Amino acid sequence: MCIFCKIANNEIPSNPVLESEEFLAFHDLNPKAPVHILIIPKQHVDSFSEISGAMMERMTPFIHDVAKHVGIFESGYRLVTNSGENGGQEVKHLHFHLLGGARLKWGHFDDADPKDFF
Ligand code: 5GP
Ligand code: ZN
Repeated sequence: MCIFCKIANNEIPSNPVLESEEFLAFHDLNPKAPVHILIIPKQHVDSFSEISGAMMERMTPFIHDVAKHVGIFESGYRLVTNSGENGGQEVKHLHFHLLGGARLKWGHFDDADPKDFF
């Protein structure tokens, strides 16, 4: 069982923010912003490439609720999901990073330079 399945099953502790029957939001262990929350389906889904449109339709209002719950819905936020190897996905259980609480930079300093590929 993967690490986020264990968190969803309460087999390892997390710092939960909001929960529904189908989804769970908890604080990232290694925050990259004043607010950094991970949002997952409790049922294992490998990555964004595997989520159904129907599940995504249910997940969208849950993500909105999390952003409202932590008070960043109005001030703004960034929603990110890393998918697969080139996307830099480390945990192979779909998760959205919800980041906010400050004006976030939009830097690509760690990314590959597009000029190297064209
Ligand atoms: P990825 O690189 O897969 O998009 O992001 C994985 C994220 O999960 C990282 O931001 C990392 O800090 C977080 N993370 C990894 N293991 C744990 C854990 O056991 N608990 C929590 N709360 N976050 C974790
Ligand atoms: Zn899993």
